Amino acid sequence: MSEKEKKENGARTGGISVEAEHIFPVIKKWLYSDKEIFLREIVSNAIDAETKLKRLVSLGETEADPDALRVDVTLDREAKTLTVADNGIGMTEEEVEKYLCSIALSGALDFIQKYEGEGEGAGSGIIGHFGLGFYSAFMVADTVDVYTKSFTGAPAVRFTCDAAGRYEISPDERQTERGTTVVLHLGEEGEEFAEEARLRSVLEKYCSFMPEPIYFTCGGEPEEEGKEKKEEKEEKPINDTAPLWLKPASECTKEEYTAFYRKVFGDWREPLLTVHISADYPLNFKGIFFFPRKENDFENVEGQVKLYYNQTFVADNIKEVVPEYLLMLRGVLDCPELPLNVSRSYLQSNGYVKKIAAFIVKKVADKLVSMKENDREGYEKIWNDIRLFTEYSCICDEKFYDRAKDAMLLPMCGGGFKTLAEYLEAAKETNENKVYYATDPVAQAQFVRLYSDGGIAICLLDKFVDTQYISFLEGKNDKVKFLRVDADAAGALKAESAEDAGKNEALEKLFRTLSRNENLTLAAERLRSADVPAILSLPEESRRFDDMMKFYTAAGSAPAMRATANETLTLNLANETAAALFAKETFDGRDHLLAKHLYALAALSQRKLSADELQEFLADSYRLLTMIPEGASLPETKEDGADKKEKTE
Ligand code: ADP
Repeated sequence: MSEKEKKENGARTGGISVEAEHIFPVIKKWLYSDKEIFLREIVSNAIDAETKLKRLVSLGETEADPDALRVDVTLDREAKTLTVADNGIGMTEEEVEKYLCSIALSGALDFIQKYEGEGEGAGSGIIGHFGLGFYSAFMVADTVDVYTKSFTGAPAVRFTCDAAGRYEISPDERQTERGTTVVLHLGEEGEEFAEEARLRSVLEKYCSFMPEPIYFTCGGEPEEEGKEKKEEKEEKPINDTAPLWLKPASECTKEEYTAFYRKVFGDWREPLLTVHISADYPLNFKGIFFFPRKENDFENVEGQVKLYYNQTFVADNIKEVVPEYLLMLRGVLDCPELPLNVSRSYLQSNGYVKKIAAFIVKKVADKLVSMKENDREGYEKIWNDIRLFTEYSCICDEKFYDRAKDAMLLPMCGGGFKTLAEYLEAAKETNENKVYYATDPVAQAQFVRLYSDGGIAICLLDKFVDTQYISFLEGKNDKVKFLRVDADAAGALKAESAEDAGKNEALEKLFRTLSRNENLTLAAERLRSADVPAILSLPEESRRFDDMMKFYTAAGSAPAMRATANETLTLNLANETAAALFAKETFDGRDHLLAKHLYALAALSQRKLSADELQEFLADSYRLLTMIPEGASLPETKEDGADKKEKTE
């Protein structure tokens, strides 16, 4: 209970409440890690007072120039005082008593007792929630003076309060104009805020987008005592009173978004994509989200969402408002529906926050679709940079996929992009419902060329997430099958009139021995192109399994089982050398060398050779060189010209 007594000089003294003695030390202890928020509390009170005044002006209750409203933050390094002055509504003596002398401590005390032990900073939710904002000043100050004059013209008053909650109210004309001046006498625990750089950074962190101009002045040099005080007045406000997120998206330019992004996130690069959201009732929030640009896949660009409450900074890196898979998003979110002091656990369990997250996901997906529709060229330019995590987002959240699917592009070998629908449409004649892809355009170059010659387009899916992504797409698109170029090559490249070539078991046996693979299958097929004697293929399933294993087996551990067990070697009957070999029943030394080399060449264009295989391949190649007779004329192939051209490109 507040005890009041009248002093002879007309001033009254009192103690805020019995509990105050308990609560101040607790506030200090609990909020220790978050001391700096006192500045936000005091400055936002000043801004509030000006917002209230503006409202009164608009209601015709009082007269004032709304353009003259300002907050002045002044640091006196020598006196170790920090002053926050506003020209808002001010307070009458009664109001000072009502708002500053009695605070809802009992509720706060209960709260603290209940949650004590949840760790440092866990109590930050009680400030603001219980109207303790003003008292957060005692985390840094020993004494706080408030000089205030109400817009009503009531006499100005002074209120002085110490860290134990003892206060004094007295008439005092120092505040000559309407408004409030709060003077914090920084104590030992607040010493760091007597340092200009520290104070400025805290001010910028919390107040950069507050709605009225805030000016910062620093004076008093502590080192040179006795020297006349020099004040460095800054003429420019430290804040931007009309942040971009408040402007309608249709009026914002790309340059404005970039400048905003750079300023807020300190990233000199241009963002890849901007999603500006303005959600009306019932969600009621505004925000701008950016896809940051990365130099490469390995650069770890950390996402970051800054949360604001009516332009007042609340917290950094609120991961809860975007789903985990969109973690690289950077953005600002101004949300007056969330309390000024939000705790992590509150955000995690809050249904409203989940709705915000879902809404953001929806808008991100919509943005992708609209950009793809309206600026396909620009969209394709950024696609490779956002592909990885849009694919990841699809896998994680079917809702995202359902909304963004028309904007999901497949990169093509040889350049360009196609949506799945576009690919399937173009493939109707040649490879209905089959999507062929390469994972390594260099290693699989021969296949890619064979397919291209046959008029079949090949996607380039070279990211680690692709294996999972294509399985996901197959799950979503019933009939569609993704096949790596070497999975079904013989089938895809078969000449139309090809008839069953039958088996050659003796040759199969030979190939099994030479390849050291007892399960190798030998097939023969007339392919459309005659250049390639043999191709090696692996069923898609076992290869995909193999890829997954590679991904999950830690680097350095034993290599995952290779899927070579299911390899099929297809000899191309359109190729003379291969056809001649396939026709034989008995094999001499030359046939052995030829078969071994054919296998190695086929393997080479499909996968990496093992160390042993490579050594043998080289040794055999050297032997083959010695077998070319002097003066032999080499058969010219039609690819000779093309090869030369490719190499010079
Ligand atoms: P809260 O801001 O959460 O209500 P505070 O303890 O920060 O709690 O402030 C209590 C009240 O004191 C405010 O609601 C406001 O009425 C009054 N007040 C504080 N600072 C000012 C100011 N600079 N100008 C006018 N009134 C103020």
